[in-house]
Amino acid sequence: LLRDVVAGPRSVAALAPLIGAERYEALLRDSAAFRQQFGHSTIWNVNSTATGGGVAELLQALVGYAVDLGVDIRWLVLHGDPAFFAITKRLHNALHGHGGETTTPAEASHYEDILAANAADLLERVKPGDVVLLHDPQTAGLAPWLRRAGVRVVWRCHIGADRGNRVTEAAWGFLRRYLGDLDGYVFTRYEFVPSWVPAGRTWIIPPSIDPLSPKNAPMDPAAVREVMVAAGLLDGPHARPPRAHVVAERLPTEDEPLVAQVSRWDRLKDMPGVLEAFAVQVAPRTAGTLALVGPATGEVADDPEGAQVYADCVREWGRLPRAARERVLLASLPLDDLEENARMVNAVQRHATVVVQKSLAEGFGLTVAEAMWKGRPVIGSAVGGIADQIVDGAGLLVPDPRDLSAFGGQLRCLLGDADLWHRLGGAAHEHVRRNFLGDVHLRRYAALFRTILS
Ligand code: UDP
Repeated sequence: LLRDVVAGPRSVAALAPLIGAERYEALLRDSAAFRQQFGHSTIWNVNSTATGGGVAELLQALVGYAVDLGVDIRWLVLHGDPAFFAITKRLHNALHGHGGETTTPAEASHYEDILAANAADLLERVKPGDVVLLHDPQTAGLAPWLRRAGVRVVWRCHIGADRGNRVTEAAWGFLRRYLGDLDGYVFTRYEFVPSWVPAGRTWIIPPSIDPLSPKNAPMDPAAVREVMVAAGLLDGPHARPPRAHVVAERLPTEDEPLVAQVSRWDRLKDMPGVLEAFAVQVAPRTAGTLALVGPATGEVADDPEGAQVYADCVREWGRLPRAARERVLLASLPLDDLEENARMVNAVQRHATVVVQKSLAEGFGLTVAEAMWKGRPVIGSAVGGIADQIVDGAGLLVPDPRDLSAFGGQLRCLLGDADLWHRLGGAAHEHVRRNFLGDVHLRRYAALFRTILS
């Protein structure tokens, strides 16, 4: 049932020039101490998808670096059916404070049945002394089985609402019955921690990006152009059919300003809101094209809403007045070749004049860190982890993401101010370098493991 995901080793040594000798040596020291003390423990990660979305992205990198550091670490993806993922997607939205319907008793028992089957498989693999990191609501129901087996269990929640509401409370009411008395609870920010989680076992660990992965690695302008043209996102000669599925009246030219949001087709990313704000507030007064870019729908296993949200965007696009429609394109990037998908995202983020992330709620928002690392000026909503990333002049925050005219106004101003792009972009890169690269992340986990294993 459980699927092993092999994250190829990533070279920690290659990080050294980016993080500096002091941080690099601290990482080696911590991992050597960890291996010596806890070398017999396996660290297991369990989540619900190997591709698409932030958690998969994170695990690819972290597991890869940990392997290179000699840590015995594994990654398993659980098996669920569409009904299971519909339930967990609702819980996901609810923890972000959105949606409404609660989990019915029949759904609860389906959720438990699926996880009981996965747990049986998992219990054959783990041994006492191991640590299992369970990621997000999809895996919460595995915890009671593991606790009974005497392994250390940490629940890592990647999502949350800055201010809880009735919907969040109901979702926690459902999940907490599985999450009692674990060894650790990890959240991205303090605001996300529900009151019933014991303070002494709470860890705040924001995610990180991998500066050397195909998604973030340096790319020269010629390569960026080539990937953009081959994807079908930029006007230019291409021999083969475009790799991405692009909905557009015309393609932008190379020297035209490009505004991009790269996201899953998820309601909380508010792609339609970006489209409307751009069409109404920006397009009539400023040059440039908007690209809304996401994964090909139906290909992210644990995200059943994607196709619907994408269809809504296409419909809204079709309703735009022609002049605005010519300035907006929708692109779905294929996921059959993940490295190619990552290079396309890399190219879009590098080519974009301005990157936006107008989420209505956000756990962290890796797309923001990715764009900041590339020195892009980013406009993001002041929600969730975006507010921890865009600080001290490292980008622009929109206080209320539902205020389309404020968002549009900021975007218009930024598009017209090349000096500001450079100032924001420079600060952005440095902020990510200091706070959101893998070494900082791994050392925070090492501290957590040391505490719960000692
Ligand atoms: N992403 C991708 N291909 C796409 C769209 C998104 O690889 O077509 C990646 C994106 O680059 C980022 C991740 O998916 O690494 C999304 O993570 P984020 O934290 O922004 O949001 P989540 O999807 O976890 O809600």
